[in-house]
Amino acid sequence: QTANDFILSIDALTVSFDGFKAVNDLSLYVDENEIRVIIGPNGAGKTTVLDLICGRTKATSGSIRFDGRELTRMREHEIVHAGVGRKFQNPSIYEDLTVFENLELSFPQGRSVFGALTFRRDREVIERVEEVAELIFLKDHLNTDAAILSHGQKQWLEIGMLLIQKPRLLMLDEPVAGMSVAERIKTAELLNTITKNQSVIVIEHDMKFVEDIAHRVTVLHQGKVLSEGSMERVKNDPKVIEVYLGH
Ligand code: ADP
Repeated sequence: QTANDFILSIDALTVSFDGFKAVNDLSLYVDENEIRVIIGPNGAGKTTVLDLICGRTKATSGSIRFDGRELTRMREHEIVHAGVGRKFQNPSIYEDLTVFENLELSFPQGRSVFGALTFRRDREVIERVEEVAELIFLKDHLNTDAAILSHGQKQWLEIGMLLIQKPRLLMLDEPVAGMSVAERIKTAELLNTITKNQSVIVIEHDMKFVEDIAHRVTVLHQGKVLSEGSMERVKNDPKVIEVYLGH
């Protein structure tokens, strides 16, 4: 496999905070249409890796190539435009707007609609909103106020707000935290559906969910890759067992 086969290639990435290396000479490669799950004990550097990819944190050294471009030299909004969507743990939806309106607001340049383009753009927006609403199981709730959605539905809505923009890489931080079993199963279904068109990186602690979704698992420890491969492989890796039992 050459470097060009990967949608995301992270090489020798390091970030130091006052001399402490939260991410330490990390290399990580993600395929197109792959669901990669990152696991590891608290403080392993999982969140920092996502922060580095989306430009929230600047690397001390190393390279992050995405879709042929070097992300370490780009600003956060440029990285969004390059096709990277990031969902944080707490939903940032607009509670006083409907599901439709929340999705509509996320449409590129969709914020204020004036002038001759209005009609054409409206139809494009409506079609995309309906398409995404179906994916996130909210097609029958388009006119529901976001405030009265269940916790799980709010999480899906936020994923939908990212999907509207058709990112090529979606990054999710503990997407099923606080969800019911039924919601967790539907979230796995959602992720499996969207990887027909995009790659997904998930930070997750729920091992049942990891088994349901992961194509490959990367175990981080002290800012480095401790183990990588199928869930079956990493789960039986003595280095992984030692780190988890030692905690
Ligand atoms: P994880 O997500 O795996 O729990 P984090 O990426 O949040 O781990 O953190 C990795 C380490 O880096 C932790 O020891 C944390 O305290 C430290 N860290 C993260 N961000 C900063 C920061 N902005 N300044 C200083 N230390 C940080």
